[in-house]
Amino acid sequence: MKKSVHNGYAKINLHLDVTGVLADGFHRVLTVMQSLSLCDTVTLTRVEGDGISVCCNVQGVPLDEKNLAVKAVRKYFERAGINMGVHIDIEKRIPMAAGLAGGSADAAAALKAINELCGFPLDLEQLCAIASELGSDVPFCLVGGTAMGEGKGDILTPLPKMPDCTIVVACGGEGVLTPWAYRELDRIHGGFLSADLYNPKDVSPLIDALERKSVEDVAAELYNIFEEPVLACRPQAARLKKTMLEGGAIGALMSGSGPSVFGIFTDDDAAERTARLIEKLGITPHICKPQ
Ligand code: ATP
Repeated sequence: MKKSVHNGYAKINLHLDVTGVLADGFHRVLTVMQSLSLCDTVTLTRVEGDGISVCCNVQGVPLDEKNLAVKAVRKYFERAGINMGVHIDIEKRIPMAAGLAGGSADAAAALKAINELCGFPLDLEQLCAIASELGSDVPFCLVGGTAMGEGKGDILTPLPKMPDCTIVVACGGEGVLTPWAYRELDRIHGGFLSADLYNPKDVSPLIDALERKSVEDVAAELYNIFEEPVLACRPQAARLKKTMLEGGAIGALMSGSGPSVFGIFTDDDAAERTARLIEKLGITPHICKPQ
């Protein structure tokens, strides 16, 4: 049976701000995203007949039409005018509902894999159009690297790649539902966001730091508007951030709407030691590189 295998890489936000409300009611964001070497592996196999089936090594991932990889293949078939039998196998390593875009990464990997299985009838621009309909993080997961996202986060501008460093990422078992995190922001900044009175944090020092390839300055400019309200209610995530900094991270931040936290290290031994401290908290650390 014909197979295609692609990795879907986790993303972290080096900068995440919510700058207003769009005409359709969605929040307008300004973000700088970075892919990590931490990834899920998505294998697509062509099977007899038609229909899309899915399996995953981790419990809790939806195994029906709600799975973002299934949605991606379904939308791809509609767009390319193709129908065939496909089985999707997801080997999951990215923590779920963590702010690391695991589902979006799987959808992006599935789009690449189905395009390969079908002989590449769609180009990257057409795949990006499908990706935007699947979710605001999917276009970034398709292109990867380092990029700024505007609008819902899906209007992308490539940025200079992140300087070499080691990134430790971990997620305590305290789920955060993204709609709840947005409600908290609205509670704090609501009037300002909807009236466009909120004064966003300037992202240009971070972009300058990327251009100058200064990992120290990148670490000094990390920013996430969700961090304060979410860490106030998620003590394990707050503890993780403290552990990263005490372990020698030159910067640490919550990713997305949380609750995962990442630390940037220039010293691999410090990264290893911090990972062991995180294990002692009963949380699984992932030692990664920018992808
Ligand atoms: P984001 O950062 O894009 O908000 P996240 O990292 O917070 O995403 P995901 O790991 O993508 O969260 O999971 C969010 C929800 O998406 C899960 O609770 C699950 O029900 C659903 N989901 C659908 N498809 C997948 C998939 N392939 N992998 C993981 N979760 C999926």
